[in-house]
Amino acid sequence: MLNTLRKIVQEVNSAKDLKTALGIIVLRVKEAMGSQVCSVYLLDPETNRFVLMASEGLNKRSIGKVSMAPNEGLVGLVGTREEPLNLENAADHPRYRYFAETGEERFASFLGTPIIHHRRVVGVLVIQQKERRQFDEGEEAFLVTMSAQLAGVIAHAEATGSIRGLGRQGKGIQEARFVGVPGSPGAAVGKAVVMLPPADLDVVPDKTVDDIQAELKLFNTALEGVRDDMRKLSAKLATQLRPEERALFDVYLMMLEDAALGGEVVAVIKTGQWAQGSLRQVVGEHVSRFELMDDAYLRERASDVKDLGRRLLAYLQEARQQTLVYPDNTILVSEELTPAMLGEVPEGKLVGLLSVLGSGNSHVAILARAMGIPTVMGLVDLPYSKVDGIEMIVDGYKGEVFTNPSEVLRKQYSEVVEEERQLAQGLDALRELPCITPDGHRMPLWVNTGLLADVARAQQRGAEGVGLYRTEVPFMINQRFPSEKEQLAIYREQLAAFHPLPVTMRTLDIGGDKALSYFPIKEENPFLGWRGIRVTLDHPEIFLVQTRAMLKASEGLNNLRILLPMISGIHELEEALHLIHRAWGEVRDEGTDVPMPPVGVMVEIPAAVYQTRELARQVDFLSVGSNDLTQYLLAVDRNNPRVADLYDYLHPAVLQALQNVVRDAHLEGRPVSICGEMAGDPAAAVLLMAMGFDSLSMNATNLPKVKWMLRQINMGKARELLGEAMAQDNPQVIHSGLQLALKNLGLARMIGPGADKKL
Ligand code: PEP
Ligand code: MG
Repeated sequence: MLNTLRKIVQEVNSAKDLKTALGIIVLRVKEAMGSQVCSVYLLDPETNRFVLMASEGLNKRSIGKVSMAPNEGLVGLVGTREEPLNLENAADHPRYRYFAETGEERFASFLGTPIIHHRRVVGVLVIQQKERRQFDEGEEAFLVTMSAQLAGVIAHAEATGSIRGLGRQGKGIQEARFVGVPGSPGAAVGKAVVMLPPADLDVVPDKTVDDIQAELKLFNTALEGVRDDMRKLSAKLATQLRPEERALFDVYLMMLEDAALGGEVVAVIKTGQWAQGSLRQVVGEHVSRFELMDDAYLRERASDVKDLGRRLLAYLQEARQQTLVYPDNTILVSEELTPAMLGEVPEGKLVGLLSVLGSGNSHVAILARAMGIPTVMGLVDLPYSKVDGIEMIVDGYKGEVFTNPSEVLRKQYSEVVEEERQLAQGLDALRELPCITPDGHRMPLWVNTGLLADVARAQQRGAEGVGLYRTEVPFMINQRFPSEKEQLAIYREQLAAFHPLPVTMRTLDIGGDKALSYFPIKEENPFLGWRGIRVTLDHPEIFLVQTRAMLKASEGLNNLRILLPMISGIHELEEALHLIHRAWGEVRDEGTDVPMPPVGVMVEIPAAVYQTRELARQVDFLSVGSNDLTQYLLAVDRNNPRVADLYDYLHPAVLQALQNVVRDAHLEGRPVSICGEMAGDPAAAVLLMAMGFDSLSMNATNLPKVKWMLRQINMGKARELLGEAMAQDNPQVIHSGLQLALKNLGLARMIGPGADKKL
């Protein structure tokens, strides 16, 4: 059964649009089940009716014509109950409805299963048979499994068709909307540029080209390159392989011939498809043919073809890399955006970011917010490899994307972009003003930095210090661990830029979703694994070099503060403090005269919340990392778009933890700040101020918005709002209550057009 399922799903997956996909589904499922009818009904969201979209066995003329409301017929019943329905004789059921045009009176038994994608019923899959009989459990289980697998495939095929401007019935449609999760607020109108990880054939996009000759030339050069490599490899292995084993290379060479793969790719290029896309198409066809074979040996040959494809692609991409052009309004699209990718687009050309994987709490989204680039993450249904060159709209407030937008929509969003520009300009005036409430409460606003560009941005926005300098960012853009001297230069630049304001440097916080290419950490469960202080305590040489560099960099400036990430208990803190003291002694022995800087811990693991007082006694300050604290308190992976809805820093449990940390830190007489993304949310910042945080640290882009908000609201009122929020047990109620209260105070402006979703 699994084999049959696998084959069907694979075949459907390669369909070019929804119509073809559904055609394959009904044909193959009917064959596999030995039934006389197999049909797919899809729920049309506009009319809210289940429409017969494909059928083998029913009258073909009824396709697209027969439809029923959710409260009509057996199909409607399956759809609304969200459960399979297995009937010996359909006509006996009270909900049976007869459609003359389908000719279904000839069929007695009926088995229908709902097709559900992301909790939403998208359609119903039905098989029917002439004789009266109940389908057995095995058949029912097969159809349920089939529907579950097909739900995603159908969504994907529908999306692929819509990107090409094809509606469900194959007719032209204007725009298509894809829903992800908000990554960074703001709106953008621009052109998609798909960025691929190196040599991954599966994700090569389609692209039509005018200069066919140039593509043919590129492909021929790639062919020559791979042929040459094969010959060299074969010669090199001559002494290690038997002649029959070496024959594999001859097979490879044969596959590259004109009469085989090589010729087929050339034929596709001649239709106007670029060389990389043509290669993906041809290799894909061969691979799926091999993979569908029952013979295990032949199935294995699929990997040979894939390997050849990858080698050819590597050559093609090398040639392509130099010619990649970014339009002025580039929307960068990738399966998994990485911080390194953000740097690839020339300054000033990047207006939006889209990622299929990851969520609003992924580090790449945090960087995007710092850079002020509208971003949507977790676009799991976007056939991203097909969108290159397409016009798009990014709505980073709601987490939505539109492809091929209509003139009306484009105009609407262009207005939002312009409004935002004006709003930002208006906020510039706040730069020199202190963050003080009308009733005189002073709230220091600090910035989070990492990228070099953050320094200038922070200075423009009037930051009062750096609450979190993520040192892993300069480590991530390097090809190897930076030396002590190199680190010293980087840290000195940061400390000097803000002097005399304090700069809080966090020791290396890698692991989780922050990988160094030259120090890979492969784990099943990285967020519960080797992260932050755990890595650096296991590698004191890395920790000592880093703290020595920080200390030396602060000579004469004395505005350094050191912050320790991912502390889960006193033992880790003590070990880290011991190493810092050792580094301090060493630097002073070497003749650098620096005082011992203040040292703080991050409270971002629930264990630290319960040990705030013990930790506080040993350090000079505390800083709450609400991004990780939310993830660990709620057991919600900050990177996983599937559970992004559950990730909520206004959850009552998070609010209570934050309040306890402030109380306990103050009981020990230590200042406590917060540097998670929550601090940069103007509405959440009101609650944090009321809790008694001594400073808020956020990205420079949001700083003026938070300042604007806090300058409008009395501390007394903020405390009242906090009291109301703390009395609630439901995060949604907290969101809407806070939003409404701020709106009533005339402060909705800073919450932005996406307030209903993000706030
Ligand atoms: C946090 O966890 O809240 C934090 C500020 O650190 P990071 O986002 O870098 O993990
Ligand atoms: Mg963290």
